Amino acid sequence: MSSIDSFSKGTVYLIGAGPGRADLITVRGLLLLRQADVILYDRLIAPELLDELPPHAIRIYVGKKMGEHAVRQEDIQRMLVDFARQDKLVVRLKGGDPFVFGRGGEEALALARSGVPFEVVPGVSSAVAAPAYAGIPVTHRGIARSFTVITGHHASNLPPMQTDWRVFSNIPTLVILMGITRIREIVEKLLEAGRPGNTPAAVIEWATTPRQRVVRATLTDLPELVMQEKVESPAVIVIGPVVDMEPELKWFGL
Ligand code: SAH
Repeated sequence: MSSIDSFSKGTVYLIGAGPGRADLITVRGLLLLRQADVILYDRLIAPELLDELPPHAIRIYVGKKMGEHAVRQEDIQRMLVDFARQDKLVVRLKGGDPFVFGRGGEEALALARSGVPFEVVPGVSSAVAAPAYAGIPVTHRGIARSFTVITGHHASNLPPMQTDWRVFSNIPTLVILMGITRIREIVEKLLEAGRPGNTPAAVIEWATTPRQRVVRATLTDLPELVMQEKVESPAVIVIGPVVDMEPELKWFGL
């Protein structure tokens, strides 16, 4: 399949790489990778995607680990601007979708403010793909009419007003990214805010990859199980009655 329009040098493409497995990138994202002159990529990108780059492409790893930054955000933004001004086709490859907790918005703003043309190529976010790969539909008729995605990362740093746990405790399906290291506090807050302790909950680790693991428990028991099983980041937490569909709908890795 070829692209419906041609790609432009001097443009930055903010591309979502998808949730983990290489072939969950979009067709447009893949076609762009094959044309890239420069790529700046993050930690959770499937390594096989880099095999798609042309041999001449400059590869720059700008990934971060929790708390530590390999390359400062301002430096990433400056590199994007500089390479585009050198008339290169610049790819900024991010895990999942670039605008879902990926700082893609900050990079787009920096480009817009520098007058550099850019395009966003959406990606399959782990927020929906991780539950899907575990056999958990985030919405389901009669069970969950909505879902909400939050970050667990700042849960304890923010003043209480900024994280309204009463609102989150009433969401039919709550999906939490970056929540594993703070799972105890998050669960405590939800219980305090009135979410019943027997609400079904699950954690999906390394979703869509051969390392995928799913642990399922009641909300009350989830933190303990996550500790016992030594679940680590990257992992998505899902809370709500749809989690009860997992035993019947699990399909991946069987
Ligand atoms: N933009 C990304 C999210 C970036 S934040 C997206 O749309 O998916 C990083 C968080 O995403 C991780 O802490 C984890 O919660 C989640 N995540 C990313 N890849 C994952 C994977 N393969 N399995 C489980 N969780 C994943």
